[in-house]
Amino acid sequence: MTARVLVVDDLLANVRLLEAKLTAEYFDVITAMNGVDALESVQRTRPDIVLLDVMMPGMDGIEVCRRIKSNPKTHHIPVVMVTALDQPEDRVRGLEAGADDFLTKPVNDMSLFCRVKSLARLKMLTDELRSRVEKSSNSTLNESAIELPGDTRGGNILVVDDKGSLLDRIAGSLKNNDHKLTGISEPQQVVFEASENEYELIIINLDLENFDGLRLCSQLRSLERTRQIPILIIVEPDDERMMRALEMGVNDYLTRPIDRQELSARVDTQIKRWRYAQRLRDNVQQSMELAVTDPLTGLYNRRYMETQIETLVDNAANRGKSLSILTLDVDFFKKVNDTHGHDAGDMVLKELSERIKENIRNVDLPCRVGGEEFIVVLPDTDINVAEKVAERLRRSVGSKLFDVPDLKTGLNITISIGLSAYEGSSDTMEAMFKRADQALYKAKDSGRNQVIKFAA
Ligand code: GH3
Ligand code: MG
Ligand code: MG
Repeated sequence: MTARVLVVDDLLANVRLLEAKLTAEYFDVITAMNGVDALESVQRTRPDIVLLDVMMPGMDGIEVCRRIKSNPKTHHIPVVMVTALDQPEDRVRGLEAGADDFLTKPVNDMSLFCRVKSLARLKMLTDELRSRVEKSSNSTLNESAIELPGDTRGGNILVVDDKGSLLDRIAGSLKNNDHKLTGISEPQQVVFEASENEYELIIINLDLENFDGLRLCSQLRSLERTRQIPILIIVEPDDERMMRALEMGVNDYLTRPIDRQELSARVDTQIKRWRYAQRLRDNVQQSMELAVTDPLTGLYNRRYMETQIETLVDNAANRGKSLSILTLDVDFFKKVNDTHGHDAGDMVLKELSERIKENIRNVDLPCRVGGEEFIVVLPDTDINVAEKVAERLRRSVGSKLFDVPDLKTGLNITISIGLSAYEGSSDTMEAMFKRADQALYKAKDSGRNQVIKFAA
């Protein structure tokens, strides 16, 4: 994996050193030697990661970071502060300005590559999600999704420690942030606990007494349900396992003795990133659903059905499978609206959709194709079986009143259904719809509340 890295430092020797190290690992390196140039370069070259010296004359690194993070066009770019002073206060100031990580000079190679790679991976994931959100047709969804969430309070955090003292320590450090902390002392239970609940961060003491902490991290990373949850580990300084942990996808670490402010700032950063990624994921999911479903009933829309039915028609043609469609229209629906109002009409349509779903199989495709018109596509189903399904559905609608709030008695609703089936290789989707419509028309014409098969 490669990434474009912007290296910012006021000393040429430092710039050259980092540039050489990163170039040797096939990163694409850009450089800047002061804050103003750095900001200009961020705008122009859109790097994947910024390595930022804290101490610079003029605009210092903290201020550069703050500006990158407060601009909606650049706030998602990870910033790593590089500082000569291994001072917790400096780190905390950086994290408060929105920095994503820290490196201390002289920069240790392993730690440099691990951090850069892990941030580059995260950046690729969020870029992918962002581009899907930006491409999605619904523009009202986009804007709020791409904003970075400001609020990191009330996080749901799992703390893993079989000695028990860590939880108190963490609770003490985080007491101002309103987080919900759950302690767990049985490492064997962690994967289960984490996959059954909605944790936003898992803090693990890597020095567990009776369990391999690294193994636990790898278990959490390999399971679908827990793969994305951020993990923060607590390690002794110089614990070599830290690199392994970062390579396997642990998101961050803290060394003992734990600095309260740093812990609090790192927890906030992890929760912020998690909520951001989560919101992008939800948004992508939502826009995909919007594209294929009808908002009132949740059934598929006509466009989606048309994309699916072509494959089904091909299957029927090439593999000799049967295929039926059922088109359904509510009887005298206008009267429901006229007598009880449009909202009551909508309730009826929702309830009707539920009854349709209850009476078909998972592989069938229920769609709302117009106001009170529905189509159900029935793969691998010949017209006689389809007729039984349609009959069952007709009875399920007509035999039980439809509840509408504010009405004392339920409404008596009936439907009419027309049926057609695939008739061999010269048949088309359009022709099938047309025949089903003709059958439906006949059902209406001969008194409604009935099922009619198309007959030539
Ligand atoms: P028929 O038995 O011949 O089908 O009679 P009908 O009254 O059902 O037929 P028509 O197609 O004339 O009327 C359909 C009505 O459905 C007209 C329209 O106001 C109403 N309608 C269409 N879409 C919606 C909707 O989304 N919600 C509600 N409540 N009503 C809708
Ligand atoms: Mg109708
Ligand atoms: Mg109609």
